[in-house]
Amino acid sequence: MVHWSPFVVSFKKRYPWVQLAGHAGNFQAGEFGRLLKRYCECEQQCLQKLMKDTLRPHVPGYYGVVQRDEQDYNLMDDLLADFDSPSIMDCKMGSRTYLEEELLKARERPRLRKDMYDKMVAVDPGAPTEQERAQQGVLKPRYMQWRETLSSTATLGFRIEGIKKADGTCNTNFKKTKHREQVMQALEDFVGGNTQILKLYLQRLEELRSVLEQSNFFRTHEVVGSSLLFVHDASGKARVWMIDFGKTVPLPTPRTLDHRTPWVEGNREDGYLWGLDNLIDIFSSMLPQ
Ligand code: ATP
Ligand code: MG
Ligand code: MG
Repeated sequence: MVHWSPFVVSFKKRYPWVQLAGHAGNFQAGEFGRLLKRYCECEQQCLQKLMKDTLRPHVPGYYGVVQRDEQDYNLMDDLLADFDSPSIMDCKMGSRTYLEEELLKARERPRLRKDMYDKMVAVDPGAPTEQERAQQGVLKPRYMQWRETLSSTATLGFRIEGIKKADGTCNTNFKKTKHREQVMQALEDFVGGNTQILKLYLQRLEELRSVLEQSNFFRTHEVVGSSLLFVHDASGKARVWMIDFGKTVPLPTPRTLDHRTPWVEGNREDGYLWGLDNLIDIFSSMLPQ
């Protein structure tokens, strides 16, 4: 005789949580498939507004501020909770990863930075100008702008920050992954050549794009340093969420952005949708025609 229990209680499996970017101490495990991220007011404001926006299904659910060991955290959904040994990719969106206000700040009290010059030379000995070479130093704004040209941020409007695959291999060394072919190679490796997963991701990205184009939140914010988190597993599930709103700031009303117009200082455009267009184009071109 089959004995049916009156209800089913499913216990979430325990699994090692994976973090692909940011400082290691910024996250804590929460209960009920939730996650604590070190408090940032800017992010709190964004997540709060996002819970009332059309983008809500495309960001982690947000549950307010909690305290643990005298530290404040934003409590949000753990996006990995419903996956088994997930493969994960963090793609940082936009054609620049600093805010206009950070650039202004970097210009206050201009100082020649020897440390930044050294970092520059270490990556590309040909990068400094003749003058910079003579001074053995660079100004911080110049360094910030140069750094964006190393990866695909400046040329494609997004860059891969990290990839962790189901087999446990993890790569966060994409700082110089710049060209379309290199990006394609990394994506191909991420999906393990699985066309079905690719197709699903493409659908998710197209859907997200159309929601972004309608979103009031998106229209009225400069979205910088935010990522798309890609997650899939062997069951064939594949999803994409927007995460990391620590540098997403409201524009003074009634200003809006289209997120595609090239950035010139003062227009605050972030290239987010331009980057998404490119990402969608790359995913499409990887599928058999
Ligand atoms: P940075 O600003 O340097 O990118 P950060 O401290 O703002 O880092 P996030 O970018 O928000 O942190 O997250 C870092 C990593 O943690 C992500 O790449 C992802 O792997 C993981 N992560 C973040 N939020 C979630 C979430 N809600 N669910 C699952 N994983 C997450
Ligand atoms: Mg991030
Ligand atoms: Mg961040």
